[in-house]
Amino acid sequence: MLLDEPGRPLRAAELPVPEPADDQVLVRVLACGVCRTDLHIRDGEVTPSGTGGGEVTPSGTGGGYPITPGHQIVGERQDTGAVVGIPWLGWTCGVCRYCTTGRENLCDRARFTGLDVPGGFAEWTVADPRFCLPLPAEVAADPIAAAPLLCAGLIGHRTYRFAGDAERIGIYGFGAAAHLVCQVAVHEGRRVYAFTSPGDEEAQAFARELGAVWAGGSDEAPPDELDAALIFAPVGPLVPAALRAVAKGGSVVCGGIHMSDIPSFPYADLWGERVIRSVANLTREDGASFLEAARAAGVRTRTTSYALDEAERALEDLRHGRLEGAAVLTI
Ligand SMILES: [Zn+2]
Ligand SMILES: [Zn+2]
Repeated sequence: MLLDEPGRPLRAAELPVPEPADDQVLVRVLACGVCRTDLHIRDGEVTPSGTGGGEVTPSGTGGGYPITPGHQIVGERQDTGAVVGIPWLGWTCGVCRYCTTGRENLCDRARFTGLDVPGGFAEWTVADPRFCLPLPAEVAADPIAAAPLLCAGLIGHRTYRFAGDAERIGIYGFGAAAHLVCQVAVHEGRRVYAFTSPGDEEAQAFARELGAVWAGGSDEAPPDELDAALIFAPVGPLVPAALRAVAKGGSVVCGGIHMSDIPSFPYADLWGERVIRSVANLTREDGASFLEAARAAGVRTRTTSYALDEAERALEDLRHGRLEGAAVLTI
């Protein structure tokens, strides 16, 4: 499935099986999750990094359109036969100040799967094996259930970890990431407050089913002060709203790659050592850490499946909140 240019519907195309470069492996895609970031790429709100500069560059990246999106890939490596997970972080330089200090998610020259390097809305793809996450056998056994773990789960978990030891956690936007984070948080004894689009009673019931102590519209005040708020909806006005809901010393953590503008707010709302921060991408360590937390919590994914050539429909369903849990393309 190709994105020829931003704003155009994805198009089905017949292409030759890709040739892996020396530092890549060929992967047969089994399933690929559909993420809100794919929708931002489709709409041109997130664009390729370009070819960049420097000595160290990844193979086979043109940094332009057409793009094959998809960065929650469960696939079979053709060199080893192992079923692996291919996440958003597709390549890093390994030598910059971020890469050498455990912060490869911030690498200046990072390349992202399904944006700068080929993604998983396809039958075949290529990947740098250093960025293929090993999957536990029980996870690899169900590619459809595993796919949403690779971004919704992984970046959701990175977002959750920035909440520190917060006991009362608000989650704004109860989609793919939230439904996984909620299960880990409840398992760890936190109290989860779920905020959905006003009137979305289905999503609120889903949140309660997963252990949230309270679920309501994002226009409602929670019954208790929060110690942290995680924002997964791409809606800037939620930031000051969440800030007003958190107690002194609390954090508002923005988990998405793109958000509409944040309206101004009085300094008094930030006062009391409240914190606002973003979460950028993921590290490979996040992958290992999340898969372990998900195993410990017995996390189950709720998925809605689509055929590969229904990718555009999956994106539109995601845009309009017409699905519960996570969308997955089955290949
Ligand atoms: Zn780097
Ligand atoms: Zn994603």
